[in-house]
Amino acid sequence: MTKQTNDEKKSLFGYKKENGWTSVSEKENAKIEAYAKDYIAFLSRAKTERETHDIILDDFKGSKYRNIDDMKDSTALKPGDKIYRSCHGRTLFCATIGKRPISEGLNIIGGHIDSPRLDLKQSPLYEDSELALFDTHYYGGIKKYQWVAIPLALHGVIVKRDGSKAFVTIGEADDDPVLTITDLLPHLGKDQGKKTLEEGIAGEGLNILIGSRLLAGFEGKDKIKENILQIFHDRYGIIEEDFQSADLEVVPAGKARECGIDRSMILGYGQDDRIASYAAYKALLDLDQIPKYTAVTLLCDKEEIGSSGNTGMASTFFENTVALMVHKLAKEPNDIIRRRALERSWMLSADVSALHDPNYPDVSAPNGNMATMNNGVVIEKFTGSRGKSGASEASAEFVSDIRRVFSDAGVLWQCSELGKVDAGGGGTIALFLARYGMNVLDCGPGLLSMHAPWEVSSKLDAYMTWKAYKAFYESKIAH
Ligand code: MN
Ligand code: MN
Repeated sequence: MTKQTNDEKKSLFGYKKENGWTSVSEKENAKIEAYAKDYIAFLSRAKTERETHDIILDDFKGSKYRNIDDMKDSTALKPGDKIYRSCHGRTLFCATIGKRPISEGLNIIGGHIDSPRLDLKQSPLYEDSELALFDTHYYGGIKKYQWVAIPLALHGVIVKRDGSKAFVTIGEADDDPVLTITDLLPHLGKDQGKKTLEEGIAGEGLNILIGSRLLAGFEGKDKIKENILQIFHDRYGIIEEDFQSADLEVVPAGKARECGIDRSMILGYGQDDRIASYAAYKALLDLDQIPKYTAVTLLCDKEEIGSSGNTGMASTFFENTVALMVHKLAKEPNDIIRRRALERSWMLSADVSALHDPNYPDVSAPNGNMATMNNGVVIEKFTGSRGKSGASEASAEFVSDIRRVFSDAGVLWQCSELGKVDAGGGGTIALFLARYGMNVLDCGPGLLSMHAPWEVSSKLDAYMTWKAYKAFYESKIAH
């Protein structure tokens, strides 16, 4: 924040971060609370990438965004038009066409809507010791010990041989049963206790307890398993073979909540990166004027496993969609216009950062280089690890541009690194966009307990992220 308030008394030229709650007006506080309430409701419903995609797409459709794939080849787009394009129901591109020609670039905010979780294996169901279990293969960077002895829910889709789909949600409604992974009692955990945190719970040990009741009258073996199959057949019309063609995900059961006795924070699953994805898509919907540059919200799948696959940011979906837009916007569309559009774009890689945690101060970057809660949306000039390896570092010029956009709009922001040098590292989708030559900057709210089943964010930082993204879309600074 450029405003220096009380710090002016201490230093004439110094910079110090400001806790947002010191300057929040009553009016803005009401906005923060309203934003948090809506976000918590969204987070409680959007537990998988498919669900998040569908919820957000419904919102865009309700706001008159049209599917670009349904438009005739000859359809011409004009400033103010609203379009979307979906990639296999798991990645989403939404845009409001701006006033300037597309060859001058887009203003893109890109986040991801997949989160770490446990996926069911393709032959998931088995019986052992007269208990029925689901075998899993974890997805993304999880600390395995965090997933045992907590209530879990099953979400996803089973596609039958004829192509028809059964949508599964078990463990979210108040009267639903939940699932769990058992842990060893401390009384018998002497050997387990000697293992490292990483080895204490093994990947192959993440087996979900799903049943213990026998199928009455069934004479064959595995009577408990058979009973579970009976339940799935009754409810979804599936047989065991249908699990082979299913995307079934196990996530923490239950709703997101306010957190803290002062209700200043939010506890919820999947805030990496639905907190930034939510802010981005809401900022686009909340634009009340036609933006100068075409404003794009890009919500990706597969970020947590390296952005690979046909719905990940490493696929050609994004540039194909830009090509389609060029085709409908340019008088004489050609490859040069598409490449110029990509190269001259600006992009905020909307992903979460790590907050300083007083429980683990040793991994924080010192000297004001670590993000802190309630100090606003976080700008990360670079990510990566081991000497910025793998980073897409933003230029000083671009950071200056974005800093100006945020400060002029009254956005509380802070600069940060992911942690202490050589403590670890990470990345976002930034590098996949930077390869087109566009300016890219990592920018999103900080979290505590990132990648844990329940992650912590600040209401103020969540709101400031939305405010920052909206200011970015509304920016009139020339590319
Ligand atoms: Mn992320
Ligand atoms: Mn992540």
